[in-house]
Amino acid sequence: MAEYPSEYELDIVLRDGGGARVRPIEPDDGELVTRFFEKLGPESRYYRFFRVKNTLEPAEIEHFTTVDYHNRMALVALLDGEMIGVGRYDVDPNEPSSAEVAFAVIDEQQGRGIGTKLLELLTSHARSHGVGEFRAFVLGENRQMMRVFRNSGYELTRTMDSGVFTVDFPVTESEASLAIEAEHEKRAVAASLLPLFFPRSIAVIGASSDPESIGGKLFNNILAEGFVGPLYPVNPSSKVIRSVKAYSTIAEVPDEVDLAFIVVPQRFVVDVVEQCAESGVRGIVVISAGFSEVSEKGAADEHRLLEIVRNSGMRMVGPNCMGLLNTSQAVRLNGTFAPVYPPAGNVAMSSQSGALGIAILDYATRNNIGISQFVSVGNKADVSGNDLIMAWEDDPQTDVITLYLESFGNPAKFSRIARRIGRRKPIIAVKSGRTSAGSRAASSHTGALASSDEAVNALFRQAGVIRVDTIEDLFDTASLLANQPIPAGRRVGIVTNAGGPGILAADALEANGLEIPELSDPLRDEIGAKLPAEASSRNPVDLIASGGPGEFAHATRLLLHSGEVDAVMVIYVPTTTEGASGVARALRECQSEYDGNVALLSVFMQAEGAGKSLAGSDVRRSIPTYTFPEAAAHALARAARHGEWRLREEGEEMKLDDDAASRIREVIDSALARVGEEGGWLEPDEVDSCLVAAGLRTPITRVADTRDEAMAAAHEIGGPVVLKVISDEALHKSDVGGVVLDVEGDEAVAAAFDQVTGVVDSYDGVLVQEMIPGGHEVLVGMAHDPNFGPLVVFGLGGIYVELLKDVAFRLHPLTDVDAREMMTETKGYRLLEGYRNNPEGDVPALQDALQRVSALISVVPELTEMDLNPVKVLPPGEGICVVDARMRVQHVAPGRMPAMRDLPGVTSNPPA
Ligand code: ADP
Ligand code: MG
Repeated sequence: MAEYPSEYELDIVLRDGGGARVRPIEPDDGELVTRFFEKLGPESRYYRFFRVKNTLEPAEIEHFTTVDYHNRMALVALLDGEMIGVGRYDVDPNEPSSAEVAFAVIDEQQGRGIGTKLLELLTSHARSHGVGEFRAFVLGENRQMMRVFRNSGYELTRTMDSGVFTVDFPVTESEASLAIEAEHEKRAVAASLLPLFFPRSIAVIGASSDPESIGGKLFNNILAEGFVGPLYPVNPSSKVIRSVKAYSTIAEVPDEVDLAFIVVPQRFVVDVVEQCAESGVRGIVVISAGFSEVSEKGAADEHRLLEIVRNSGMRMVGPNCMGLLNTSQAVRLNGTFAPVYPPAGNVAMSSQSGALGIAILDYATRNNIGISQFVSVGNKADVSGNDLIMAWEDDPQTDVITLYLESFGNPAKFSRIARRIGRRKPIIAVKSGRTSAGSRAASSHTGALASSDEAVNALFRQAGVIRVDTIEDLFDTASLLANQPIPAGRRVGIVTNAGGPGILAADALEANGLEIPELSDPLRDEIGAKLPAEASSRNPVDLIASGGPGEFAHATRLLLHSGEVDAVMVIYVPTTTEGASGVARALRECQSEYDGNVALLSVFMQAEGAGKSLAGSDVRRSIPTYTFPEAAAHALARAARHGEWRLREEGEEMKLDDDAASRIREVIDSALARVGEEGGWLEPDEVDSCLVAAGLRTPITRVADTRDEAMAAAHEIGGPVVLKVISDEALHKSDVGGVVLDVEGDEAVAAAFDQVTGVVDSYDGVLVQEMIPGGHEVLVGMAHDPNFGPLVVFGLGGIYVELLKDVAFRLHPLTDVDAREMMTETKGYRLLEGYRNNPEGDVPALQDALQRVSALISVVPELTEMDLNPVKVLPPGEGICVVDARMRVQHVAPGRMPAMRDLPGVTSNPPA
């Protein structure tokens, strides 16, 4: 049994795309360490020990394998079960915030980025264990090691003394270190997937002569599309398949095989994958099903596959998938068993559902939507959606990334990379499981956890991912983004030959938040100059039924060049049988002479659309076409919102200062000690201390056990007060009459005391609180989602918030931009702005409060629930006041922080 928390065992991808496993060293690793030392060349040993060294003494081995997570961490990198590298840090006993770090990698594995990766993992571990600085001693001639440090992005201080550099650096995350880690990760992942997308040779294990079998269909597809490299069928009972000589095992194939498709019965898969590893295959696609999606036994087999794959450095798509394809002329890989092969194009697609995958390819093919690469990811045991989007980030064939998702393997990582990639290439996702019936289906279908839909929405919104509901929406939006510029604003010009559809379109656009601006007089005159008197040159421009190709071209061209709109939507209602093709030609001409930033899209209101005739010679400038104005309006609205997301500043997180953080930690740590393993609610005074330390105002409050104490407290506070009973029986105090507001005078205080204590059997005292009159009541809360982490919620409506459900969610941490958008997104926000003589609220103070709440959550990862309800938003300049608050905490398992598996370059999938 491993001694370390399972989170500490990680799989990493290296610079060349190969993999390795990393875990903490263990007491009985002595033999591994000895063999590792023998494989270290003399030079590496010299660099590590600063002297000629031929053997490791038992005491040294003992020292190296001693485990003490509080004061040291040693991570070993393994390949095929053998140690190939080690990195460690030891905390300086005199200066606990500083640690000495050292590495060694065996000669034959140097240059693959192992040291760099170990350093990244060690810095992350160190940070979460209170270590702020690393120091390393490096021999002057040890260039390789200096390079590892220099490439880390940390700010180094170097001093040289008798041939030895002392290198010091703070291990706090910086923008530079994060960017560098992300870049390393992206390159490594893309390299590791090359054999899957750009194989030089392919084997189909389980290829069959039966054209109806999956092995037969797959083999035929690869052959029929003319894959550019050699293709080897493997089947123990056939000598030849479709005129191609077959081999009985992968080992017999005389050539090196980059990519193997595996289509054998489930019980053979593990053996076959083992043989692939032995034969040096670099990527596998396991089509066979019967793994974690069906049973425990299947899950165990899947785990075994992953072990083999990770130990050998292969990458695996699947199991339980329908394959992958790459339409690039350089490979022409049709590696699915689907009966369709889509046209080549610039949309990449990953699908978590095999069955839907076929439907998706079929839809794309029928609607002439060009695909660059398609992957059916199946159970995602190894290659995940996150890997794919990283590989597509720099893929020159791909401009738009589309995802059909049922579950997230690692949402934190998805969020981090999607945010980055979305600024260059739009990511569009269908996330199923939106309704509760849907999420049940998703979980029984894939065994995946159903994730809470609000969290998904929040994640997508913050990461700029365009969420759509259906596959049709997905392609409607993809075909616009794949072909046209992202609109720089919301202004749309409409050109139509029929009034009705023009109005439909205008309504649909406005309902989706777009604008139909009035056109300027000069523009209207120009447009009108070539139109009959009955036509309208207002927006929507109505060419009337006589409008043909010439009129359409005239109006469209003027709008495109006008600078008065960000998109032009052309709607054609057929008036003659030949009409559509003429108008389509005219539009294509307008497009070919225009390459500005205004998006052009079309609606041909006829069954056949006008798809083919609108495809430009350059795929990136086809004119997307829709059958109905509503679909076009939806797609355009999504594109415009995405454009706004791109322009939006990334914003900044607020951090509490060290003083505030340590005051909060003190309160939380003592509360944790009290509540025990299952966790529990904080006491009112603990809640108050945390909020105040986080810079949030609360009312002056005293706890009274008797009437007399209550009266004394009221005197002390002065002015009108509020009395609230503290009791486990009254979680919602006012519901049971446990709150009395606006009390003044001894008699009234005594009566209120009796009132609030009278409604419960037992109580732990009464809160006597400063009365905060006026203001708007809002809710600020936090819930912990098991997959997505803390989710922050904001809502208006005071006690009606649950009824009105006018709330906004964001994933923690919030930036200032997030906080602002959360407020403005709610319908009730206008109340805070003083809607219809409502008193205005202090909006900047509220935004600040939201950010402080997020900063508080950062300091207290043990927080599982928080409810600030209500927060009173006082008039401008007067700030806010949290008049009622509850917080629940629970221990976080030691070693859980940080989630090292969320780090760049770590490919481990989270435990199922
Ligand atoms: P609960 O939510 O358990 O019913 P609260 O402490 O939120 O109890 O009190 C109920 C309502 O009383 C609040 O929503 C708010 O309108 C009002 N209230 C509570 N405390 C104060 C206070 N200190 N000043 C002004 N109004 C208050
Ligand atoms: Mg309340």
